[in-house]
Amino acid sequence: MLYIHIPYCRRKCLYCDFFSGGASVACWPRLTDALLAELQERVGELPPRLESLYIGGGTPSLMPPVEFRRLMAGVRRIVAEFRREWAEEAEFTIEVNPEDVDEERIRVWQECGISRVSVGIQTFSDPLLRHIGRTHTADEASGALCRLTASFRNVSGDLIFGLPGQDMAQLRRDVERLIAASPQHVSVYALMYEEGTALTALRDAGRIVPTDDEIVAAQYEALTAMLRDAGFEHYEISNYARPGYRSRHNSGYWTGRPYLGIGPSAHSYDGSARRRANPTDLFGYLDRFAPILPGSITDSGRVFYTEETLSEDERREERVMLSLRTAEGLCLESYGVDFGADALMTLLRNAGPHIVAGRLQRAAGRLALTQSGILVADCVIVDLI
Ligand code: SF4
Repeated sequence: MLYIHIPYCRRKCLYCDFFSGGASVACWPRLTDALLAELQERVGELPPRLESLYIGGGTPSLMPPVEFRRLMAGVRRIVAEFRREWAEEAEFTIEVNPEDVDEERIRVWQECGISRVSVGIQTFSDPLLRHIGRTHTADEASGALCRLTASFRNVSGDLIFGLPGQDMAQLRRDVERLIAASPQHVSVYALMYEEGTALTALRDAGRIVPTDDEIVAAQYEALTAMLRDAGFEHYEISNYARPGYRSRHNSGYWTGRPYLGIGPSAHSYDGSARRRANPTDLFGYLDRFAPILPGSITDSGRVFYTEETLSEDERREERVMLSLRTAEGLCLESYGVDFGADALMTLLRNAGPHIVAGRLQRAAGRLALTQSGILVADCVIVDLI
């Protein structure tokens, strides 16, 4: 699994704490050079066979077509030169914003082998879109969905619920309008008030009243029922897919597969215990991998990232947290093999009250959250670990 982070956005959305800078200062050719230089340096960390490439951000759809072509050609060249190969049917995903979807970009994405497009809709309400600082309109979102579903076999749409002022009727209209556009996959996220975001500052200043938790939970239940009725499998807490269209890349994160992350703030994992994080320092990143005067500022041997080795307890906790996000849940046999009989006994003892209360179910050697358990997933997981 290979992830590439594109660190620019047109404007910062009020709720967002992802690492991204303003596109007005973007130097796209230099970014492409830097991403390819990092990949060249780290390609040996990739497994022999690659299942997926995910280009996320930020806003990858902002990347000028000429640079996107150069990036994709460079990635393919480096992977091939290092004798790594793409799996048949490897999933190539790009994240896009509706306002960037035009005929030229669609053609370039297709020609570059993109097989899956994930589009950030968030809501079809223009006042709510303005409220959270999105730069597209509801009509642009509908138009983009229409073009994308006509051009790609695998399209995913993101929605946000629990927006301030979003009532149940509006939420239902959002879900209906998204379903009507016939995407193969839907991701939904409850609005979060992350530390340091503009939205949190507005809330703290009393200028935004967050939606009540009970209403947020009711919205989640309602949208889940609507998507299930429309034929989507609820395969992960925030993700729904038509049969055969689960995200292979994101499923890899939840099942502990190794991945290599390229770009500022990108994370990597070796599949056993070692994690690595690139710093959230765009200019430092560019200086390290694409210096303006080669050899002047950068020291190519300089360690610019942080690394941690997970302890056995941390790996065990991570296994529980990630597995329970999925519909399949946690495999008890492999948990016992990897962490020992005592750890398994403790887990089952802690799970007991939640099984009795109907928040967890144990079946076919697996432990999984029930629909009511998903609503209190964090509390259940804390009890288990
Ligand atoms: S477009 Fe996406 S990454 Fe960029 S600021 Fe908005 S939510 Fe964050």
